[in-house]
Amino acid sequence: MNTYVRMTEGRKDPDCIFCKIVAGDVPAEFVDESPGAVAFKDINPQAPVHLLVIPREHYGDVSELAATNPQLMAEMVDLAAQVAGDLADGQFRLIFNSGPRAGQSVYHVHGHVLAGADLGWTPA
Ligand code: AMP
Repeated sequence: MNTYVRMTEGRKDPDCIFCKIVAGDVPAEFVDESPGAVAFKDINPQAPVHLLVIPREHYGDVSELAATNPQLMAEMVDLAAQVAGDLADGQFRLIFNSGPRAGQSVYHVHGHVLAGADLGWTPA
């Protein structure tokens, strides 16, 4: 039984893969959680530590989340720092791709937490 799975009331998209992960309908390797968010391993890691931090409820992108629920945004940043401290040395990069040209492919806001290495910088 996955202890990180907890049904949420409110914002959900039945077609969203990350909503399905939160609901336990799609498996994921969870590493931590907070009341409003969960952290799990990215299926295609780009760094020794590559986690996704997502809210349990559905927001399309970081701008929508920050405008609608800034407290939850802050909670996600706290969770990112927590997992970076637990799984690496506490230093981390937190990336929110917003829009297809920025590389967003899943429209349930997620912060990429990259850590555990000297990170390069090659966005384009
Ligand atoms: P983005 O391209 O910024 O929208 O990031 C989406 C991320 O979700 C990518 O890094 C994918 O590797 C990751 N991803 C997609 N499906 C899954 C999944 N089922 N479990 C874990 N990570 C996933």
